[in-house]
Amino acid sequence: MPNRITKAGLAIFLSKLKPFRAPKIGEEQYITDSELAAAFLWEAYMRGDIAGKIVADLGAGTGILGIGAIVLGAKKVFFVEKDREAIQTARENMQLIKAGDITFECKDVKDFDKRVDTVIENPPFGTKKEHADRAFLEKAFEIADKVYSIHKITSREFISGVSQRHGFEVVSIISCPMRLKAAYSFHRKRTGRVNVGIWILQKKVF
Ligand code: SAH
Repeated sequence: MPNRITKAGLAIFLSKLKPFRAPKIGEEQYITDSELAAAFLWEAYMRGDIAGKIVADLGAGTGILGIGAIVLGAKKVFFVEKDREAIQTARENMQLIKAGDITFECKDVKDFDKRVDTVIENPPFGTKKEHADRAFLEKAFEIADKVYSIHKITSREFISGVSQRHGFEVVSIISCPMRLKAAYSFHRKRTGRVNVGIWILQKKVF
């Protein structure tokens, strides 16, 4: 890693991480592509929510978001992921950076109970289980005041509603394409795109 990391440098580094070995479709295991992951993390970093902070990566998968947070100077990262195989890959990916205070929590996000400064997450979009992202948002609102979360851009109303009910406001939504590499045999094209948004959510102060 160069001493002074740039957004482009971060994307290149993250593109070297291993993907899911055998992605599980029921869990909607799609890796965040490295460009989007870098844009997402850079946004959080520029807003002062990564460097020196305690971060939780909910549904960490192979670890791309949490590992990027460590690279950008997070004080500690919890990787919360219920799939043991994905955690194994995340552990292997961590070897690329070696340093960093990290904890792997192999459990459902519902059962994670540590207080953190910032949540970063790319939850299942709920194409297989309707609004599977709800549990991720609710947990995030319980444990942090700042939440960075990736969803389908068509989820605007749903996310506004859940945020409102939990005393959070939508600070910004950055829309961007997410590249999907063909991970499943039913995918005809080698790559596809879905329009997603990076939601920046913050606890309201009264
Ligand atoms: N954050 C990774 C993975 C995104 S895919 C990335 O950005 O590349 C979503 C991940 O959430 C999958 O790895 C899936 O196994 C995990 N997951 C789904 N439901 C979960 C739950 N209830 N608790 C914990 N992990 C969950």
